[in-house]
Amino acid sequence: MLKQENKTDVIVVGAGPAGVACAITLARSGKEVVLIERGLFAGSKNVFGGAIYTQPTKEIFPDFETTAPVERRTVQHNFAILGEVDSTTISYRKNDNSSYSVIRGKFDRWAANEAKKAGVYLVEETVVRELIKEKNKIIGVKTELEKFYSDIVILADGVNSLLAKQIGLRKDINTKDIALSVKEVIKLDKDVINQRFNVKDSEGVITEIFGGSMLGLLGLGFMYTNKDSVTLGLGITLNELVDSKISPYEYLEQLKQHPSIAPLIEGGTLKEYSAHLIPEGGYKKIPKLVDNGVMVVGDAGMLVNNLHWEGTNLAMISGKLAAETAIEALNNNDFSKKMLSLYENKLKESFVLKDMKTYKDLMDTMHSRKMAFLSYYFKKINAFFEMFTSVNSIPKKENFRGFIKSIFTDRKPIELVKDCFAVLKLLWSILL
Ligand SMILES: Cc1cc2nc3c(=O)[nH]c(=O)nc-3n(C[C@H](O)[C@H](O)[C@H](O)COP(=O)(O)OP(=O)(O)OC[C@H]3O[C@@H](n4cnc5c(N)ncnc54)[C@H](O)[C@@H]3O)c2cc1C
Repeated sequence: MLKQENKTDVIVVGAGPAGVACAITLARSGKEVVLIERGLFAGSKNVFGGAIYTQPTKEIFPDFETTAPVERRTVQHNFAILGEVDSTTISYRKNDNSSYSVIRGKFDRWAANEAKKAGVYLVEETVVRELIKEKNKIIGVKTELEKFYSDIVILADGVNSLLAKQIGLRKDINTKDIALSVKEVIKLDKDVINQRFNVKDSEGVITEIFGGSMLGLLGLGFMYTNKDSVTLGLGITLNELVDSKISPYEYLEQLKQHPSIAPLIEGGTLKEYSAHLIPEGGYKKIPKLVDNGVMVVGDAGMLVNNLHWEGTNLAMISGKLAAETAIEALNNNDFSKKMLSLYENKLKESFVLKDMKTYKDLMDTMHSRKMAFLSYYFKKINAFFEMFTSVNSIPKKENFRGFIKSIFTDRKPIELVKDCFAVLKLLWSILL
């Protein structure tokens, strides 16, 4: 029960990783917090690949490795560059516990339940329609049926964040800055997964997929092993999807038929098909994260590191940092924008904004040189290995010379110079 009917210290909107991490941090410090989730239960609407990362997850749930519903511990990370029919894969294998595959429907529900145990007042099946503003400060939320009031509202409502838009913290997201992701969960026998991916029962493999049906498009594919299923999907920037006039489902179907993917899922049955948006704008597109009485966390604040497939960790840590700021604000009885800006400072000092800043020029470079980096060089990598592995009675020297010559004949020298310049510029911005 709340101390005062319909009034609490903090309202958190959205029970994804950001919202739950935020709410549980507040509750553990003795603050009164209401967590509102529109789904039938936390996680019922959430879609991802995917893997959660041990270190940041432990900051919120220290015992999650033994208590949470995790699927498989990642022991191998593959980077697969698919050509039209061939592929080159780099595999990194290490027997550690740096990440786990999870099914969000199960994991988010467990996490929200942990929050409840910590004292969070969880309201499910309830959509927050509007924020309530008084004297230039957010003072609560309006759901379909009632109004809830609080000293601070934290928006953890995900990539679309209609609420942040409503109060002018952000504009409509440009279709260049968002990817549409589709994925299938394909059921396979546990032993079949173990044998095909060369792992034991609790061990798993992550595969990042480049090229294939997405050659030349700003898109990435992914494959994760779960206990008795495999998640296969891809995400493509929305503007490219619209321009290509091909549905994401068709791209996924083509990916499933690629000779390097098809044998891994052969005989599997479709268990789930879903689609979700991913914020891709990066550092330059982060909206305003703070105003009087309100903070924005997780995907709602564009806090995603797309190159590394990191989202849940940025969500959880931004949620935690917003909670810590809210605790200080409540202790000082100051809910002003100035006070809550401490949250932005905390983000800047953490890996969240440091990493996003590191890749601030990545998307611009990818948009401007995508045919080079996402098609031409991928094909060339596969062509190199085709040349290197072929046994055709042609002297090796001629093969090597032919390959090098093809680089200069297939691509204009000026384009090669531009590619080199783009790589150097990107490296410069990443490393300095
Ligand atoms: C296909 C795919 C694969 C991914 N793979 C990975 C991966 O492997 N690893 C990784 O770390 N990240 C991955 N991500 C990114 C990751 O899923 C997100 O970054 C992360 O879920 C963001 O958490 P969040 O809490 O900010 O938002 P969400 O998880 O989107 O949660 C928002 C919540 O708010 C609720 N909500 C929204 N509006 C309202 C409202 N008005 N009222 C009440 N409730 C509301 C929603 O129902 C939802 O539960 C992937 C994303 C996708 C789409």
